[in-house]
Amino acid sequence: MSIPPPLRLEVSHLLRSFGGRAVVADLSLRIAAGQVTCLLGPSGCGKSTTLRMIAGVEHADAGEIRLDGALVAGPGRHVAPEQRSVGLMFQDFALFPHLTVAENVGFGLRVDRAARLRRVGELLEKVNLHGFGAKFPHALSGGEQQRVALARALAPRPRVMLMDEPFSGLDNRLRDGVRDRTLELLKEEATAVLLVTHEPDEAMRMADEIALMRDGRIVQRGAPYNVYNAPVDKAAAAFFSDINVIRGVSKGALTDTPFGAFLTPGHADGAAVEIVIRPQHLRIDFDRGGKGPNPTPEDGTPARGTVLRSRYLGRESLVDFAMDYEGARLTASVPGVFLPKPGTVLWLMIRRDRCFVFGV
Ligand code: ADP
Ligand code: MG
Repeated sequence: MSIPPPLRLEVSHLLRSFGGRAVVADLSLRIAAGQVTCLLGPSGCGKSTTLRMIAGVEHADAGEIRLDGALVAGPGRHVAPEQRSVGLMFQDFALFPHLTVAENVGFGLRVDRAARLRRVGELLEKVNLHGFGAKFPHALSGGEQQRVALARALAPRPRVMLMDEPFSGLDNRLRDGVRDRTLELLKEEATAVLLVTHEPDEAMRMADEIALMRDGRIVQRGAPYNVYNAPVDKAAAAFFSDINVIRGVSKGALTDTPFGAFLTPGHADGAAVEIVIRPQHLRIDFDRGGKGPNPTPEDGTPARGTVLRSRYLGRESLVDFAMDYEGARLTASVPGVFLPKPGTVLWLMIRRDRCFVFGV
């Protein structure tokens, strides 16, 4: 049996209000060494405030924060930020303009000169900036500055790395490569990472665990696969992609839809339900298109719709439909180029195993 990695960060029941409004409400988190947790949520939901309390630059109204088991914030206790052994990285990198790259990276190192030079050299090597030590930040590109900021934050071997939207200042084109290299380095250093982002793609790419946040609370947490494929509610599903919503009324644990009756157990007779499906899980039945239904059991009953609009997005095409059944509007995503003209009649199938049923 393998020994689980030690818990580096434990946050329990954290609370912070501004002007009587709870911006962070009863938030709890645990991150082990070598693990990347992404705090994901819309702008204004309290992500940065949470990070700032863990860093110690913001006081909590209630709750506890432990680093490596030691209480750093709690009732009557507030350890200063510089004594918490946390690495910080923000969107604007905040490099010291009057210090060289090597001096920036070595800034937080409280060791002798030889050890500092060794660690700075090692990190510059790791972030692919060997030979940049004597340059000043203004002479570097955005991507290079990001790597200096990362090296500086990692230099003192922090127990926890706190990263607030660290890639949003970068060009789209650069970002994926920078994210991947950053992730490799964080894993090598085996620090616990809390990365704040409002971009689901970034969280899916970086996280071992996603903590989905809304209105100051964590509404769902889990591996990217689980959070994407088993959302707790409609808003959680909608945060990751466009969604289709089929509305109905449950009766005898069944709800009628354009695709036949769906099992909706646990919903009372007469209760409104919403069946949610992502566009990529609606299939267009090309083989039998227009000729009539001939369903396979897992697809259930096909449904007929009329194309309203088709758009090509590069990797996929999006096709909007008005369904025959009660004029329901649905959007299907089709890989590659598929641009049927408005007015075209097609049959749609639904991946029932990919539908989510929620009460309203
Ligand atoms: P996020 O990082 O998720 O975008 P923040 O944690 O920065 O959100 O902010 C959450 C909410 O708290 C926002 O409505 C913001 O205006 C408010 N807020 C943050 N800091 C302060 C402050 N020092 N004083 C008053 N309101 C604040
Ligand atoms: Mg923020």
